[in-house]
Amino acid sequence: MRLKKLELYGFKSFAERTEIVFKEGITAIVGPNGSGKSNIADAVRWVLGEQSAKILRGASMQDVIFGGTQRRKPLSYCEVSLVFDNEDKSLPLDYAEILVTRRVYRSGESEYFLNRASCRLKDVVDLFRDTGIGKEGYSIIGQGRIDEILSRKGEDRRQVFEEAAGIVKFRARKEEADKK
Ligand code: ATP
Ligand code: MG
Repeated sequence: MRLKKLELYGFKSFAERTEIVFKEGITAIVGPNGSGKSNIADAVRWVLGEQSAKILRGASMQDVIFGGTQRRKPLSYCEVSLVFDNEDKSLPLDYAEILVTRRVYRSGESEYFLNRASCRLKDVVDLFRDTGIGKEGYSIIGQGRIDEILSRKGEDRRQVFEEAAGIVKFRARKEEADKK
């Protein structure tokens, strides 16, 4: 499985429809301060279901929608998609390519889609659980996260290793079953 593409529309500073293609190998994103590098990482977190405005560096969840500039009107919604290559079927869906999309309007409520079919946040979270890709995964290491992992309490650190070992799904299923 590999991240092939990120598509943004109206997300933070990306008012224009923007495509970022990740070729095989390493992709580095460089640019001056304030040019939108961190906004790209925020977009990846957001589409994977991030619910915390603070983690997304905003005051409210609507702050992810392009808020306008002197020359350009604010937008009424934003949408981000991640495209994964799934030729190796490492994600348990019978598609060679998986498109995960999140959209939000100024009115609030987020919508999620898997390969353009409407789905729940839970479906997105379940799909990526134990792959390391989910918003709690270790695939996005934010500023300060390394220190955090090193200095955290054993219990918290264990979560990172459990995700890497691929056993979080069993714990989640057990917790769900216990609730019933
Ligand atoms: P640095 O090198 O300083 O870390 P960066 O490239 O990571 O910079 P970002 O933090 O990604 O920069 O981008 C910040 C820019 O995004 C700011 O100019 C800010 O005004 C703009 N921005 C953030 N949210 C919105 C929004 N909702 N609408 C319009 N612009 C936004
Ligand atoms: Mg930054």
